[in-house]
Amino acid sequence: SAIIEMECVSFSYGTAADGAYALKDIDLSVEEGTFVGLIGPSGAGKSTLASAITGAIPHHYRGRLFGSTLVAGLDTCEASLTDIAKVAGSVLQDIDAQMVASVVEDELLFGLENFGIDHHEIEGRIASALDAVGIADLRHREIATLSGGQKQKVAIASILAMTPRVIVMDEPTSALDPASARDVFEVLRRANELTGMTVILIEQTVALLAEYCDRVVVIDQGRIALDGTPTDVFSHG
Ligand code: ADP
Ligand code: ADP
Repeated sequence: SAIIEMECVSFSYGTAADGAYALKDIDLSVEEGTFVGLIGPSGAGKSTLASAITGAIPHHYRGRLFGSTLVAGLDTCEASLTDIAKVAGSVLQDIDAQMVASVVEDELLFGLENFGIDHHEIEGRIASALDAVGIADLRHREIATLSGGQKQKVAIASILAMTPRVIVMDEPTSALDPASARDVFEVLRRANELTGMTVILIEQTVALLAEYCDRVVVIDQGRIALDGTPTDVFSHG
């Protein structure tokens, strides 16, 4: 069944009078367990779409958000960010802004404590999340000393530790070399296959989307321009 259900979502950062919509009449339904790539030109609305899914559209803009977005049945416009984060974890484009701790294990610990996870369960969650992304050896490292790809894996591990049903990532590979970018996709696909976690990922590299995604959604000028399998979408025109 659908884990994400967006109906007629429109949004403008400006006043309605200037007519510029960041999102316009978005209808999007995502089956649970799907690995979805979002692609489109800069300014197309990809980050805004991700924000609508994670409830991150700032409150002072909410009056300009129309339609409904349900994630695991939660209305992301009305639910608290904490409740949404329990079903949908997100990684921002600015990975350094995302990090709250200075040591890797504390980054995972912070989220788990914040969610009130029982302390008997915390150690197991940290160990298995670090293991799932292949960074058990980085556990005691200072985050500031890690590479961009390693930081992305720490962010992914922090989210996996919370066992959400969806992960939303905004261009995790934009600052990575091709090998590290592929590595991030591998980690996400493994988590997707093992846990059935739905992946929503903004990415510009067609080759990665073609190889890893079940579904590619092309956003252009706030609208869904194309939507289908990588083969459907990339053989178009
Ligand atoms: P990208 O295209 O990679 O998503 P942008 O450079 O468009 O990134 O945006 C970077 C940041 O600037 C984001 O936080 C976005 O919300 C903000 N931003 C983008 N466009 C505007 C704008 N016209 N006015 C104010 N902030 C903006
Ligand atoms: P993308 O992620 O595809 O680059 P965005 O969702 O960041 O696109 O931006 C969609 C549109 O909204 C763009 O026209 C951008 O300039 C504008 N925008 C984004 N963030 C802001 C912001 N904080 N304030 C005003 N305009 C913004």
